[in-house]
Amino acid sequence: ARTVIVTGCSSGIGLALAVKLAKDQLKRFKVVATMRDLGKRRRLEDAAGDALNNTLEIKELDVCSEDSICTCLNSIPERKVDILVNNAGMGLIGPVECQSIDTIKMVFDTNFFGLTRLVKEILPDMKRRQNGHIVVMSSVMGIHGLLFNDVYSASKFAVEGFCESLAIQALKFNINISLIEPGPVFTEFETKLYEDAAKMDLSSTDQETAKMFQQLYLPYSEKVFHALGQTAEDVAEHTVKVITSEKPPFRYQTNNLYIPFTTLKFADPTGNMHVDTFYKMVFQHDRIFNASLNLIKLLRWRSRNNPGGKHF
Ligand code: NAD
Repeated sequence: ARTVIVTGCSSGIGLALAVKLAKDQLKRFKVVATMRDLGKRRRLEDAAGDALNNTLEIKELDVCSEDSICTCLNSIPERKVDILVNNAGMGLIGPVECQSIDTIKMVFDTNFFGLTRLVKEILPDMKRRQNGHIVVMSSVMGIHGLLFNDVYSASKFAVEGFCESLAIQALKFNINISLIEPGPVFTEFETKLYEDAAKMDLSSTDQETAKMFQQLYLPYSEKVFHALGQTAEDVAEHTVKVITSEKPPFRYQTNNLYIPFTTLKFADPTGNMHVDTFYKMVFQHDRIFNASLNLIKLLRWRSRNNPGGKHF
């Protein structure tokens, strides 16, 4: 069986993925399900059931601490990790002038530096063995920016640039890198974001921006979540497909409904189509029709250029 280490397994996608891999019918995986705070292990234990201490073991790992990463890896026989799933992450929404530099750094420390810490430890072993797969939970916001998600999106862009560069070298050592790009997913991630947003001190911004955030963005974002949201199990299922694929794709979007939005970015190198469409969607609901037309045009463009529209 291949050893898979997954970070951020106390909730959401990490939990669902660790359990799915551990319950694989063919028993192809030995899962090291890690979390920052072992006090939160109960939910994972319950979901793992019989797999616990069988095909799944739980270990402590804080992606913001090199010591914690080393201790965890050293406890794995021969430090042999066949598949790394870098899943731990945090979100941040709101006007940037209302966020402290410390909070912004924390997002990068978790989402970007967390990945680099793990890769620095695990990649050399994978290179020596000329084998391995690094799977990274990115986001559609690693492809395009979104209103009031400036810092979060930047952290995922950082992740994507890092992986895209590294993938070229990795291939020479027979190591694959895959970015998983979910759209909105119903997890604690979303709940936490909205709770934090409700408590956010908006006194450092002007009234118009504050109003835009509370009365426009938040309801808009909830609508998008309801219209397009996926479950963590669904994202986990897609991730298993990528992990078990003969030739894993470098990028994989888990939500077909979201593809028209990400395509805007790829279709127009000036970037205006993306910015204009999202502007219209958020600020000109009555003109949503125009935006939809743009999307349909793009879908046609896409199907002409990619018949079948298969991922891999
Ligand atoms: P979640 O909040 O349920 O899970 C994130 C996990 O990361 C939590 O268990 C949290 O404890 C853990 N974590 C945070 N900091 C950590 C640290 N320093 N060390 C170890 N673990 C830490 O949310 P989720 O939706 O399951 O998020 C998982 C990944 O999916 C994240 O990288 C997120 O950016 C990405 N993602 C989420 C969505 C969404 O809408 N929920 C969409 C696209 C991508």
